[in-house]
Amino acid sequence: MRNTVRILGIDIDNINIEDAGNITKKLIKNSNKSCKIVVAPNTEFIMMAQKDKEFFDILRKAELATPDSVGVMIGGKKQKTPFKQRIPGQAYFRKILEVGEKENWTFYLLGGKGEVPKLAVDNVKKNYPNINIVGYHEGYFDKESEEEVIAEINRLEPNVLFVAMGAPLQEKWIAKHQQELKVDIAAGQGGTFDYEAGKIQRAPKVFQKLGIEWLWRLALQPSRFFRMLVLPVYLIKITFTKDITKGKFD
Ligand code: UDP
Repeated sequence: MRNTVRILGIDIDNINIEDAGNITKKLIKNSNKSCKIVVAPNTEFIMMAQKDKEFFDILRKAELATPDSVGVMIGGKKQKTPFKQRIPGQAYFRKILEVGEKENWTFYLLGGKGEVPKLAVDNVKKNYPNINIVGYHEGYFDKESEEEVIAEINRLEPNVLFVAMGAPLQEKWIAKHQQELKVDIAAGQGGTFDYEAGKIQRAPKVFQKLGIEWLWRLALQPSRFFRMLVLPVYLIKITFTKDITKGKFD
């Protein structure tokens, strides 16, 4: 039984990082290459899903939704079901690498521009010397190379497919190909490969502790400003809405 908290229609698992590792282990054990979907909802996801039924439905049907962002934490507190822990995307990524290294899982990394996935793979291999990454591909492709990528993934049948193409593109891509992808789990990873590749610097610890990583990201990538305007709207919504579990498409 999942222990979830629903915020504006999106179910998010109330778990810590250890639980995330254990649940993923179970998903992989029982999947039999049925491509279980793992998502990492943050405030932007929840707000995007209020305008996008396709995205809303994908988040709702995910088998695991790890709690990302301070906004999600506030949503849990507001319902008197505080989340055990905030799990930033990269923390989940690294936990699964750590568990996967021991369990001998195979990994495929899809996403990022140009050399990003390769650099990410190189760095991951340095930090997890026994990791078994069977393939990677950048996240920009036309129809023809998309078919080749899917064929390659299906030939390799990895346990874990990490897809880092940003939300909601990565979740929609996974859901669109869920039936054909021969992987145990597919997890959306946003900008994680950029971090792992050393292309974007992670916020200093003090920013992470205070839950204001978004401010750091904004300073590094000012183009994110308009995306972030949804944050105050979200806070107003969950402060003044009577039933914050209800989503736009419920
Ligand atoms: N990306 C991709 N294919 C695309 C669009 C984006 O691989 O068609 C990559 C992009 O290069 C970047 C990541 O997806 O590495 C998006 O990162 P972002 O920080 O925007 O994602 P978020 O964490 O905000 O969801």
